[in-house]
Amino acid sequence: ANRSRLLDDTEPGATADGHRVQLLANIGTVADAEQAAATAVEGVGLFRTEFLFLDESEEPTVDNQAEAYRQVLAAFAGRKVVIRTLDAGADKPLAFANTTPEENPALGIRAFRLARRNPQLLAHQLEALARAVADTPQTEAWVMAPMISTADEAKDFREMANAAGLDHVGIMVEVPAVALQADRVLTNVQFASIGTNDLAQYTMASDRQLGALADLIDRWQPAVLKLVAQTAAAGQRLGRPVGVCGESASDPLMALVLAGLGITSLSMSIAAVPEVRFALRHTTLDKCQEMARAALDAADAKAAQEAVRSRVTPEV
Ligand code: PEP
Ligand code: MG
Repeated sequence: ANRSRLLDDTEPGATADGHRVQLLANIGTVADAEQAAATAVEGVGLFRTEFLFLDESEEPTVDNQAEAYRQVLAAFAGRKVVIRTLDAGADKPLAFANTTPEENPALGIRAFRLARRNPQLLAHQLEALARAVADTPQTEAWVMAPMISTADEAKDFREMANAAGLDHVGIMVEVPAVALQADRVLTNVQFASIGTNDLAQYTMASDRQLGALADLIDRWQPAVLKLVAQTAAAGQRLGRPVGVCGESASDPLMALVLAGLGITSLSMSIAAVPEVRFALRHTTLDKCQEMARAALDAADAKAAQEAVRSRVTPEV
């Protein structure tokens, strides 16, 4: 088969035998949204909203936020957009919010944890999002919070989002504790999206920004895969979609493993979508499941990747 022609394929994501896995884009600005909307992605699996906040000395107004969110949602009429609430702190510090110096910011008051200290910040964002969602009824809007650590936090977030008028509410799975408690946590929300960048950082106790630890934070680490598997299985038991929106989703071989584990959507930079779509299209769900079992059983990251690579069909 002509590989480059197949890479032009614009069909929705599915395995060779038709098992659907949504292919979605990660975006961080209105310009990204417009660029992604022009491609065949089925929507956005991670809209990072930090761009509105990062270079500001004070909180953007609800009006300004609502307008930016509206533009992003409007670009995806007829498709789905998963919006992540503010993930401030650690690698994304905010001048006006992360004001207390911390010895270990990655383990500090960041992301959803800021909402406990500064509830207005999240309340304003949810209000702006609810306005934008009301203005774009053709877009399927889902809202999720980053860095949730307990079932209680998931419930708090859902209640805050519901109170603002948002009704499709989920969480990111980035903290190992939440993956381990996935059955409980997922009962409190409608969906989950696994952030494999942070999940790997916290599982392997390895700073994601430290290149010297790249072998420890490798996406093929069986310990990380086990947490992903556990979360996906809880989602299947409870009927909650569980996607992946970290870097793992953009690796075609890993995408096969994730499909085999029961992950329902893969969100990545748009440049990665064609190769992932192609790999899925040429592999059956059975084969993906066999690859997933082999990766989970492997002794280490290298062996996990090799076990999957040795099972790929010749087309991939
Ligand atoms: C992640 O942690 O995997 C993720 C998708 O979020 P971010 O990279 O923005 O922390
Ligand atoms: Mg993250």
